[in-house]
Amino acid sequence: MFMGHFAMALGAKKYAPQVSLGILFLACQLADLIWPNLVLLGIEKLEIEPGVTVMTPLDFVHYPWSHSLLALLFWGVLFAGLYMALRHAGSRAAIVIGLLVLSHWLLDVLTHRPDMPVTLSDSSRIGFGLWNHPVLAVSVELLLFAAGVWLYTGSTRALNRKGSIGFWLLVVFLLFVYAANLLGPPPPSSAAVAWSAEALWLLVAWGFWVDRNRAPMLAKTH
Ligand SMILES: [Zn+2]
Repeated sequence: MFMGHFAMALGAKKYAPQVSLGILFLACQLADLIWPNLVLLGIEKLEIEPGVTVMTPLDFVHYPWSHSLLALLFWGVLFAGLYMALRHAGSRAAIVIGLLVLSHWLLDVLTHRPDMPVTLSDSSRIGFGLWNHPVLAVSVELLLFAAGVWLYTGSTRALNRKGSIGFWLLVVFLLFVYAANLLGPPPPSSAAVAWSAEALWLLVAWGFWVDRNRAPMLAKTH
């Protein structure tokens, strides 16, 4: 899952208008931001196995600290709690952030084969395997993304050209990265995958920048 995660963050803006899109990106992708570091440290394990699913050659051998339900519950509570404490935010913002962290697990369960850990042990792993059904998988990702973009543009307005053009460039860039991953050759090594996953930080930064140049739209009054 790729576009779907960003879709959740974009859509969440409507429910937590004061929270920057950068924070929302950080929350929805926290699992994939933690994961490459653990892979590079040798704590979590990834292998390249063409054919493991139809759409991706990535074999997620072991990743309980970044991708189990239990770990993401923990990271979600931690991130939401830190945000509340540091930004003096209300509980609504914290709940949205916590749910976004958790949403990563639910969406990954949809696309992954049964490799998503529930607890820190590898004994119970689930996944509905949409990655073996490309048309369905791509449709779900793009529909979610379209809904996210629609909610975000409906609940914020651009303050300047950075806020409008910068946002639409971000949308195009995400679509481009998704397509390149789907259509490109299998990556040369698990380390290469992990290093390129670190580029997610760029998208987080882009989210902060776009959001600074847009403002929440106030609910219409009569
Ligand atoms: Zn993930």
